[in-house]
Amino acid sequence: MQNNTDFQLKQPLDCLQQLYGYDTFRSQQQEIIEHVVQGGHALVVMPTGAGKSLCYQIPALCRSGVGIVVSPLIALMQDQIAALQQLGIAAGAIHSGMSYGYVQQMKDRLLAGEVDLLYVAPERLLMPEFLELLQRCSLALFAIDEAHCLSQWGHDFRPHYAQLSLLGKTFPDVPRIALTATADAPTRKDIVAQLQLQQGNIYVDGFDRPNIYYAVTERNNPKQQAWRFIQEHHPQDSGIIYCISRKKVDEMAAWLQERDVCALPYHAGLSPRARMEHQNRFVREEQVLVVATIAFGMGIDKPDVRFVLHMNIPKSMEAYYQETGRAGRDGLPANAYMIYGLEDAAMHRHWIDDSNAPDNQKRIEHQKLNALLGFCEASRCRRKILLEYFGDSCDACNRCDTCDHKPETFDGTIAVQKALSCVHRTGQRFGVSYLIDVLLGKTTDRIQRFGHHRQTTFGIGTQYNKKQWQNIFRQLVAHNLLAVDIVGHGGLSITLKGRAFLRNKDLIALRTYPKAQASRLKPTATTASSSSPLQLQNEADKALYQRLKALRQQLAKAQNVPAYVIFHDKTLLELAVHKPQSLQAMLQINGIGDVKLQH
Ligand code: ADP
Ligand code: ZN
Repeated sequence: MQNNTDFQLKQPLDCLQQLYGYDTFRSQQQEIIEHVVQGGHALVVMPTGAGKSLCYQIPALCRSGVGIVVSPLIALMQDQIAALQQLGIAAGAIHSGMSYGYVQQMKDRLLAGEVDLLYVAPERLLMPEFLELLQRCSLALFAIDEAHCLSQWGHDFRPHYAQLSLLGKTFPDVPRIALTATADAPTRKDIVAQLQLQQGNIYVDGFDRPNIYYAVTERNNPKQQAWRFIQEHHPQDSGIIYCISRKKVDEMAAWLQERDVCALPYHAGLSPRARMEHQNRFVREEQVLVVATIAFGMGIDKPDVRFVLHMNIPKSMEAYYQETGRAGRDGLPANAYMIYGLEDAAMHRHWIDDSNAPDNQKRIEHQKLNALLGFCEASRCRRKILLEYFGDSCDACNRCDTCDHKPETFDGTIAVQKALSCVHRTGQRFGVSYLIDVLLGKTTDRIQRFGHHRQTTFGIGTQYNKKQWQNIFRQLVAHNLLAVDIVGHGGLSITLKGRAFLRNKDLIALRTYPKAQASRLKPTATTASSSSPLQLQNEADKALYQRLKALRQQLAKAQNVPAYVIFHDKTLLELAVHKPQSLQAMLQINGIGDVKLQH
């Protein structure tokens, strides 16, 4: 490893072009980098994949001294550090998994000024002995990654992070740059106050992830729906499949394995060793799927995850945004596909009610779930709803299922009144199938036993068939007019909102039962997508691209790093399309800088 002084690169743009091999800065990168290079503090809120890392890496290289990067999951960062080393940057980490000798050596190199970037967990940084070491080093900056972890308003509060406020007091002259992908206004305020960034600037980018295509579909045959999606859109890709429980994870992984798909389970019930192994294979190999609970994802920086498939609904819009955000970090097209059913909502409601949280917290969580259900049942642009939820906006996007196939709606007022009164008259304890039988006027044994064939609601719903009624009941639960009792037997009862609906004689539009629902997802070619300016034009280029991929895999294996650390897909695509004939021409390719050119 060498120190950045060897490069004599003190200009941000030179760093970008010669080290990273990129042409121009994106959105606010340049402004942020110049501000920090001049000694300013900053809070950077940008979506995943927008390029936050360069906002601290380049200033650390341009300023003298070492840049200290605080991050929650250092053990997962070896690949990122390897990627920096491939660029010729002297990057390293200190964490608890390292030997005493290694840590000692790292400390010596720090004192000798031989390190450009050092990654540490907050626990380590806060140790008196470590702070004392830093006092003796020349420091370029502190970068606080995943900065939302220091706020109790954030969604992943970590007590050690809260103590980082001492950085401002102990090292008042060293720039502090806080970075996060998700921080609402209260969280931002907290970060600014705790890290004393007052004089610093706050840079907030939009929340949009333009390369992600959003689609949601009702569940009818989940495994087959998932299978079709994977076969049609991602037969050769890496992806994440989220399931609601450990049991479902194991089932789904086994089911895919029977079909010769490399699908690895990941949940908190597996041994730490198995988890680590599955995670490593996912990151390092190609065409690996991880089937996981929400325990999976934090700290995974794999850029070429081509899809995130939700087999069940997540608990909130925040969770959905974060989980789907793991797709397409490299900017190439990616799919976020959700298969949703009512049982999931009932399950989440049960967990919320069953938790030890105070009542107002429970209320908030129910509301968050409602927002997500509204998103699932939406008949307008999904991206718009998602962005509006975070206080951002966009025009109808044409990159989601509802933009591509505008769902039809019908006036559901009468149908809803019939459904609700059927629930009421049968005593608010029966499940959907029974209620539909009553509405359709079926004289089953059970109905006769309960005498419901003599009820006024018996047979009043024959203008719809069973499937259509299921569609209506699902939306009633999603709109929170009906609640499902999952501890009992899935009996439906009318909520306060449902009562108000009947009292006020409200109008309601419902989505019609989709006719061709399985094909609603627009085909998205994987690497050579129509929305990407770069395309593999002919068979020869495609073959060349595959050969480059094979070579990359070979180089990655030899160096024991993930393939993307050698080159991103985008770089290989450009090589296959442009076929540079000289070293000079090769330097023009995205992702090839001086050191990679030499290699
Ligand atoms: P974030 O930390 O915001 O999730 P990263 O810093 O990991 O995003 O950047 C995402 C990807 O975009 C990386 O592969 C990075 O190298 C690339 N990238 C960042 N800035 C630029 C740029 N100006 N030009 C081209 N690629 C860039
Ligand atoms: Zn849209």
